[in-house]
Amino acid sequence: MIDSFGRPITYLRLSVTELCDLRCRYCMPEEGVCKLRHDQMLTEEEMVRAVQAAAKLGIEKVRITGGEPLTKPNILSICHRVAQVPGIRDVSITTNGIRLPELAVPLRQAGVQRINISLDTLRPEKYAYITRRGSLDKALAGLEAALNAGFDQVKINAVLIGGFNDEEIPALAALTRTWPIDVRFIELMPMAGNRDFGPESYIPVSRVLEKLPEAVSEKEEGVARLYRLPGARGRVGLISPLSQHFCASCNRIRLTADGKLKPCLHSAEEISIKGLDDAAMLDRMRQAIWGKPRCHGALGPLSRSETPRSMNQIGG
Ligand code: SAM
Ligand code: SF4
Repeated sequence: MIDSFGRPITYLRLSVTELCDLRCRYCMPEEGVCKLRHDQMLTEEEMVRAVQAAAKLGIEKVRITGGEPLTKPNILSICHRVAQVPGIRDVSITTNGIRLPELAVPLRQAGVQRINISLDTLRPEKYAYITRRGSLDKALAGLEAALNAGFDQVKINAVLIGGFNDEEIPALAALTRTWPIDVRFIELMPMAGNRDFGPESYIPVSRVLEKLPEAVSEKEEGVARLYRLPGARGRVGLISPLSQHFCASCNRIRLTADGKLKPCLHSAEEISIKGLDDAAMLDRMRQAIWGKPRCHGALGPLSRSETPRSMNQIGG
């Protein structure tokens, strides 16, 4: 379906849980999130019906996210069923990677084609600090499992945090020399769950290019501007929600684990589909796509996102 600003909406981010086994400092508070009652969350059945409705309106790609999607006990069944929905031609997942040693192969077999793993640092003590409870060894074992499981594409997402990992830009980018992966640097967004890093920690993705003068520009892909280090097997991607937003070509809507359609990541507007029958769900989805705002306004390092949700409650 085309939205009211002429943008074809073809991409759904489906959050399957708000819960997570880590507590990244820019994403969610130490104490976690107030656990919603089980009956407030979408059931697996509702998630699948929502994807079916979305596919009827022209959604072709679904990214499964959270919270940490691999903590969801029925994650394999959800992935399998989403991949079977007529019209869905691309299913991907975003994960912290910790549980991939057990789950990479089953996810691939369930029909997940592409995988993004979040990794902000290659130093064990810094990984433990930023995630508050994670182990770098486990995340790297997850990356290795993903590389061996035969996904069509493996990407790493690194949130750029000034004074924390800007010195590691060359080391993170160098992963693309060793493996056929894309390493994507993402600007830190001023979300509600990010209590630890203020405007002073924001650095634009242009800093990545300053640190990688040898990088050669390649074509854009989705929201990422792509570069390649000489001789590298994979690419370096820059994602700039703040310094150069991509609202004009935004093709996505989001569905939260508690059943709220979010036409825009940074808007407070939400449309509930929890408990609806197929026809009503389709109607609300049409309404969400048509009502997608033109842009997220003046989001910048000094402003805050309008949504009161933290990233784990939306699905990044
Ligand atoms: N738990 C999974 C993971 O970490 O990959 C999936 C959910 S997580 C919310 C999705 C992505 O959002 C991660 O790559 C994470 O780094 C990113 N993210 C979370 N908070 C962010 C923020 N304040 N600014 C930019 N990216 C953020
Ligand atoms: Fe969990 Fe992902 Fe948020 Fe980190 S970024 S706390 S792994 S949901």
